Amino acid sequence: MLLAEFDYAAPESLDEALALLGGGGNVRILAGGQSLLPTLKLRLDRPDLVVDLRKISELSYVREENGEIAIGTLTTYAELLASDFIESGVARCLAEAAASVGDLQVRNLGTIGGSLSHADPAADIPAAALALDCTLVARSEEGDRTIGATDFFHGLWTTALLPSEMLREVRFRKANGGGAYEKLRQAASGFALVGAAAVVEMDGDTIAGARVALTGVGSAPLRLHALEERLAGETLGEELLRDVCGDAGEAIESPLSDIHASAEYRAAMAGVTARRAILRAAG
Ligand SMILES: Cc1cc2nc3c(=O)[nH]c(=O)nc-3n(C[C@H](O)[C@H](O)[C@H](O)COP(=O)(O)OP(=O)(O)OC[C@H]3O[C@@H](n4cnc5c(N)ncnc54)[C@H](O)[C@@H]3O)c2cc1C
Repeated sequence: MLLAEFDYAAPESLDEALALLGGGGNVRILAGGQSLLPTLKLRLDRPDLVVDLRKISELSYVREENGEIAIGTLTTYAELLASDFIESGVARCLAEAAASVGDLQVRNLGTIGGSLSHADPAADIPAAALALDCTLVARSEEGDRTIGATDFFHGLWTTALLPSEMLREVRFRKANGGGAYEKLRQAASGFALVGAAAVVEMDGDTIAGARVALTGVGSAPLRLHALEERLAGETLGEELLRDVCGDAGEAIESPLSDIHASAEYRAAMAGVTARRAILRAAG
């Protein structure tokens, strides 16, 4: 299907892009286009203006700053995967989530900021962002606003970003521990039927702390706070994980049910993927 008409701008500076966003009307950002273009072709969205960020090179980076890893919004999955900063430790959950996205073409064009801002309920990066307890930096003409990952995702394709804001950066602390992402793929699209991201810090055989998040199971990704509390201070073992993760599905308020999988299946697989992710993150 052909796109409906819209105005198009490709600013070369962040200030120019922010002025266009702040100008009112139905404005959409174009990052990698991997979700926006299909949305426009299906006419699920009819923007007045599309602001293409791709000439603003200062939005693409992965770097270490004050004990945190900072990722520019326009960083593609492929650029992220090429970075040494996410090879090991807790960041592995982000690397594994990025590596599981779509195919090579999608990973070469799609961006970390685009995935988080689009907030597809089956997207992989949002689960990793929750498990890493990321800080998301929104920028408008007024300046920066920081949003915790747990406050960022509001529901189906909906986030805490205001129309005048863009997601500028994602940050997480370079903490002790390991990370992992497990995904049960929907066979046709490759999106997550269920995905689980885990960050675990061990003290010998004891779980010092864990953060676990799910995607694909409801209208938004979610942190498994009750499960995390039950794991903290316990000795890691198969029996513990089977017991604690067996209840993971209970945290999902309205489990998604569609032609690809029933709510019961997704709830059951939530426990399985969470257990696998925790075990690998714990090393
Ligand atoms: C064939 C195919 C397979 C895929 N498989 C997977 C998969 O397995 N797992 C997965 O997670 N995803 C998958 N995707 C989606 C892909 O990850 C997209 O890259 C991602 O959802 C959007 O990123 P983008 O950079 O392409 O954003 P765009 O498509 O350019 O934008 C998406 C939305 O986010 C908004 N936006 C973009 N950047 C910003 C910003 N900085 N601030 C505010 N708003 C912004 C746009 O306005 C738009 O509404 C797949 C896509 C395709 C085409």
